[in-house]
Amino acid sequence: MSLNALINFAYIAAAIMFIFGLKMLSSPATARKGNLISAFGMFLAVIITLLDKSIISYEFIAIGIAAGSVIGFFAARLVAMTRMPEMVALFNGFGGIASLLVGWAVYHFTPEIPPFTAVTIFLSVIIGGITFTGSVVAFGKLSEYISGKPILFAGQHIVNAVLVIGSLVLGALYCLNPAGNYLIFSIIIVMSLILGILAVIPIGGADMPVVISLLNSYSGLAACAAGFVIQNNILIVAGALVGASGIILTQIMCKAMNRSLANVLFSGFGATSSKKQEGVQGEAKPLKVDDAYLILEAAQSVVVVPGYGLAVAQAQHALRELDELLEANGCEVRYAIHPVAGRMPGHMNVLLAEANVPYDKLIDMDNINPTMNTVDVCLVVGANDVVNPAAREDESSPIYGMPIINVDHAKLVFVLKRSMATGFAGVQNPLFFKENTRMIFGDAKETITGLVAGFKNN
Ligand code: NDP
Repeated sequence: MSLNALINFAYIAAAIMFIFGLKMLSSPATARKGNLISAFGMFLAVIITLLDKSIISYEFIAIGIAAGSVIGFFAARLVAMTRMPEMVALFNGFGGIASLLVGWAVYHFTPEIPPFTAVTIFLSVIIGGITFTGSVVAFGKLSEYISGKPILFAGQHIVNAVLVIGSLVLGALYCLNPAGNYLIFSIIIVMSLILGILAVIPIGGADMPVVISLLNSYSGLAACAAGFVIQNNILIVAGALVGASGIILTQIMCKAMNRSLANVLFSGFGATSSKKQEGVQGEAKPLKVDDAYLILEAAQSVVVVPGYGLAVAQAQHALRELDELLEANGCEVRYAIHPVAGRMPGHMNVLLAEANVPYDKLIDMDNINPTMNTVDVCLVVGANDVVNPAAREDESSPIYGMPIINVDHAKLVFVLKRSMATGFAGVQNPLFFKENTRMIFGDAKETITGLVAGFKNN
């Protein structure tokens, strides 16, 4: 077998591993294995690529691999679970800039660029540039280095449209005569970087998960284009897979919020919400932990709704202990999972898996909602936006139409949080003032530990 055939054969094997790995990632039971299989596929692809005879120097590659591995290792170890979305945003950005640099390098070092390669270079540069700065802005918004509020200015859509059309026109000019158009090429790079910033600043913090997923898709498309530039089959396949899976996840998330992608990208969601939502809408009824224990002790059915606050409080292990004590007391315990609870897709699944909560106790929003009126107590642990009935009842609410977990349909709702503060979307929550709601103020871990102590001491 020739070296070329061996390389392509290994690439096909790697691509198959990516596809099976992705498929396995769709269920918590197989996700770990899927991740390993995909990682092995990538390892194989990297090793095989290094056999390529066209590689001139291995030194820079070795330095790159070593530096990347060290940074990746520490990032994975040190970054807190709650900061994972920011890290994913940065990863997307690095993918984008890598594709831009690959396109640029090939353009810079190749004297005669065929038309098809010129087009793919243009695509890898423009998409890569948008992905890079867009991801950096998304990172800044999520980590609150810049305001999470939509940044809007007059004529924003027009400026963006001019930039898009302008870069396409310049792209066409460049592709017609790549060799003589270095200046135009440089302007395209700058325009792509500006476009990335302008595309993401008008999007509110609460929509960042969707944007990150979309940028993830862009980074895949940029990599795919870069794969065509350097004629590397596995880069084309891997880029296309990332591009497709990113767009599928984007669609799923939009559906979970009952919004169109256009609405997420162009509506400036959250820019005007805060003023309208200010002011108390009734009287909240606080409940002491001891009294909450007495009610839970008599409950037959409890549904836990975890949210971002569960991750902040790191209360998942205490929650699992409470779950066991409730079950030992003859109570059925289930967990209602909202697709955008927490700060990244699957956040609650990961958190509960860490505490060994069995997967079959995790029920999707659509399946738990119809059973909600039979539930004795709904335990809302650090969730807010995903249980906000304004999304169902208040047409003037910025989150109107977003599907929620209907906790207010349960007989009693316990909301575990530290204050009356709003959640990520900055929208007031009428759930806190409902007749059947009791507020248990305090850090979720302390409250749950108190409930656990109640069961253990009585
Ligand atoms: P929210 O952000 O709406 O609310 C979390 C609540 O947790 C806060 O109101 C806070 O109240 C409470 N909290 C924080 N720390 C603690 C603690 N130590 N103990 C107890 N409570 C605590 O979270 P949800 O999960 O309900 O909703 C997710 C939101 O995040 C949605 O708006 C979603 O669109 C957005 N988002 C989702 C992403 C995803 O992919 N899942 C990614 C990024 C954003 P208090 O301060 O009073 O304690």
